[in-house]
Amino acid sequence: MASVLDTAVDGIIIIDEHARMMMFNKACERMFGYEAAEVIGRNVSMLTPPEHAEVHDGYVEAYKRTGHRKIIGIGREVRAKRKDGTYFPIDLSVGEAITPEGRQFIGILRDLTARKETERRLTELQGDLIRLARVSALDEMGSAIAHELNQPLTAIILYLQAVERELRRAKDTGHSEEADARRFAIIKKAQGEAQRAGSIIQRIRQLVEKRGPERKDVDLNHLVDDAIELTQIGQDRIVNVVRDYGADLPMLQADPVQIQQIVVNLVRNAFEAVRGREGGEIIVSTSLDDRHLLLSVEDNGPGIAAEMLDGLFQAFKTGKRSGMGLGLAISRTIAQSHGGELLVDPGGSDRGARFAVRLPFLSAQLSAESAADAGTLKGPRPSEPKREV
Ligand code: ADP
Repeated sequence: MASVLDTAVDGIIIIDEHARMMMFNKACERMFGYEAAEVIGRNVSMLTPPEHAEVHDGYVEAYKRTGHRKIIGIGREVRAKRKDGTYFPIDLSVGEAITPEGRQFIGILRDLTARKETERRLTELQGDLIRLARVSALDEMGSAIAHELNQPLTAIILYLQAVERELRRAKDTGHSEEADARRFAIIKKAQGEAQRAGSIIQRIRQLVEKRGPERKDVDLNHLVDDAIELTQIGQDRIVNVVRDYGADLPMLQADPVQIQQIVVNLVRNAFEAVRGREGGEIIVSTSLDDRHLLLSVEDNGPGIAAEMLDGLFQAFKTGKRSGMGLGLAISRTIAQSHGGELLVDPGGSDRGARFAVRLPFLSAQLSAESAADAGTLKGPRPSEPKREV
């Protein structure tokens, strides 16, 4: 029996009613770094983290008393402790056997270290890809941004020249209260321009900085507003951007830079869709349903072209000559990694497209549920409340 158990790939531990180890197979020796002889007869709590070790005896006792199963026959992910004191994740399932010597518990352990590592690498790669798309979007906006920065800088130079002229004149005409007030006013304006340039740089820096994904409490309206400012740089100023923000929205647990990235992608696409159209309008709205914060970007362009609809959210699918086709794919990935979804109402025949992001604000646990939703948007548009799509 022992040699059969020793050939198993999974770790197998058998304990008695008092949680003393009776069997510790070869796979366990590899996983934990103990020889079987070192552990046989000792309490299994030596293999669990302290917080578990204390409650483990309690589990066994409680089960014996109440028959209530916390782990038996269920299996769950727990941490285990190696001989060298390090921890590693395992999947543990426990079976029970009644023997003439009393009740025994058989634990089957699967080392999850490799799987966790793969998951971690995947998350990291996804983060890198998302960032890459962000940098690529900013790269496309590069010349517009340079132009936008040039404006305040030029203004600052002009204001400084004006103050210089004023001061030269003052040397001849002498000091006057009125002239002082004028100079202060010019200096104030220069400061304002410098701040404007600073805030543009600040926003860009946030978007390109390399850092891991994070979660913090963010104010959605504020975040969206900031992203729109950035997106408007270098765009057609005739296009009317309507901001229709819900009041008193709850805080959102999110990665602020990634959510801004979605807004930048959607609003830039909308600008593209209304380019050259008379009366071009983009409506960005935020609102709340019982469990989600909703962010929608709607334009009055031609809608999504029929040939684009199939696989719209797939990477490299683009209808533009210079497009990378990453914006929507990345935006959906970001929404899903926040437990939410990105939905589309493609519009067409004189209706523009509308994209909506749904993000759960109650708990990340809702993620699976939301991700299971289909990709087509149902429900009223803010501007035409009754239409079902
Ligand atoms: P890219 O912008 O690089 O093409 P996206 O994934 O952001 O990549 O968009 C894919 C395609 O979807 C666009 O090329 C365009 O054809 C279409 N599209 C996206 N948004 C809109 C919109 N608001 N109106 C019309 N078509 C759109």
